[in-house]
Amino acid sequence: MQKSLTVSRPIRSKERFLVFGRPTIEEAEIAEVVDSLRKCWLGTGPKVARFERDFAAYVGSPHAIGVHSCTAALHLSLLAAGLQPGDEVVTTPLTFCATTNAILHAGATPVLADIDRRTFNIDPAAVERAITPRTKALLPVHFAGRPCDMDALGDIARRRGLVLIEDCAHAIETRYKGRPAGTFGDFGCFSFYATKNITTGEGGMVITRDEEKSARLKMLALHGMSKDAWKRFSDDGYKHYSVVELGFKYNMMDLQAAIGLHQLPRIERWLERRRQIWDAYDRAFADLPIELPAPEEAGTRHALHLYTILVDEARCGISRDAFLGAMTAHGIGVGVHYQALPEHPLYQRLLGWKPTDCPHATEVGRHTVSLPISAGLTDEDVADVIAAVKAILA
Ligand SMILES: *Cc1c(COP(=O)(O)O)cnc(C)c1O
Repeated sequence: MQKSLTVSRPIRSKERFLVFGRPTIEEAEIAEVVDSLRKCWLGTGPKVARFERDFAAYVGSPHAIGVHSCTAALHLSLLAAGLQPGDEVVTTPLTFCATTNAILHAGATPVLADIDRRTFNIDPAAVERAITPRTKALLPVHFAGRPCDMDALGDIARRRGLVLIEDCAHAIETRYKGRPAGTFGDFGCFSFYATKNITTGEGGMVITRDEEKSARLKMLALHGMSKDAWKRFSDDGYKHYSVVELGFKYNMMDLQAAIGLHQLPRIERWLERRRQIWDAYDRAFADLPIELPAPEEAGTRHALHLYTILVDEARCGISRDAFLGAMTAHGIGVGVHYQALPEHPLYQRLLGWKPTDCPHATEVGRHTVSLPISAGLTDEDVADVIAAVKAILA
């Protein structure tokens, strides 16, 4: 990336740099965190329990388990699904490294199925081709908040007897034929990282219909200690706990839940604000030589987490990386979601992946740019993003 790039008349000065993915934090969260601090209850406690209940109600799931991150949520789901070394998990090449790292941490082997070039979501036909006798699970990602083809993926999982785990890091508000993302599979994994649609700083959630799996997950998230170990310091007397499995330190803190409790009620309002920004970008860029996101499919709701454009040097006269540098020079923060996983040296070395394995994801990964679309953007911010894109591509 060309960090030193300068433009003659920047749209925004350095002092007014528009940070990509900036969260919106309001007074209620600040007061709730202060309340936790004053009560000296920082770790897992009543606020986590409340946030889990509220989140479960929002997505319509009987169980929700708060954890430290979506990465932890994915790791625990794969373990609770009973994956063994040598088992294969089919996933998408156009995702954050956490998706595939969780599979590796669980001791299983990730296998890629290329994306659908229009939706950027995993292509069910490619999933069918990637399945072997060792395949045990499917791990689709609802990219940018657009639901995957859950009829097709659910059908494959049923026919082949596979566990279905949904990476819903972008997809809290996502609906497919009226049903929330995360409720199709055996597990749905959500992220509340700082740039996501709602945040707890770091944080994640697993949802599942299965009461036993929910209990096992909760135990694995806290050292593998027996149920409700966090109650052991309560005022009705000391309780012994037993360690019954080799678990992890993945529990969510009350300090995190304190933020999430007040973010969740604003989620629909913020989605509407992102829809305004999305529509403004669609209108403003309609005549530019760039590829815009595909329209929302009928019968679905897109969570509008990322607005991605494709910059092709042959059409735009500027390379994607030069475009990233120029936007930054104009004072606008941008993102890349994502370079296809086979571009990374780790997976090349460990798994022998090559960029040519997934031509669609590789092509998208080399041309994609994410523009700011946080709900907190003002109309002036949005106008600045549009002006910068037009100034560079004019
Ligand atoms: C952000 C993200 C994750 C990881 O979420 P964390 O909460 O940061 O662990 C996983 N998958 C996708 C697609 C993501 O965007």
